[in-house]
Amino acid sequence: MESPMVALECPKCGARLEVTPDLETFACGHCGASVRVRRSGGTISLERIEARLSNLERNTDRTAAELAIVRHEKDLARIEDELSVSGAANSTKVGAGFGCGAILAILGLLMLSGSDGRNQTGYLLWGLGLVAAIIGFRALQDESAAPLRKQRDELRRTINDLRTIADG
Ligand SMILES: [Zn+2]
Repeated sequence: MESPMVALECPKCGARLEVTPDLETFACGHCGASVRVRRSGGTISLERIEARLSNLERNTDRTAAELAIVRHEKDLARIEDELSVSGAANSTKVGAGFGCGAILAILGLLMLSGSDGRNQTGYLLWGLGLVAAIIGFRALQDESAAPLRKQRDELRRTINDLRTIADG
């Protein structure tokens, strides 16, 4: 029994290829692409083996991305915990600094008002109080939590990038 030839287009270069139904894989005579013959139901089609491979690779990437997301999300949760703890500790420090500063400033103002603005200690305390309050405030804003915040933002970006890969 003679097997009929089937005319199909190369999935890469579009050249017309004559395929015998028993053929599994072959190389396109025009562009050299490795082609696999797919039979599903009554239809025969061609697909590029490279395309299938890169699909497989994409799936591997996707799995890796999903695993990485899980790992990064754990890190992110830990950092957010640390940030909330150190934020609370900082608030206490800043509260104390702010309180001391305010008391000094009020003492200074009282001394100034009792001496018609001639009491130098009053000026000194008032100034010290302001400086203490400002330093306390700045400490909360910048220093201790800044590296963690940066790490957290980077993790969030990385997770977003990985999600794009995982969904793509
Ligand atoms: Zn071709």
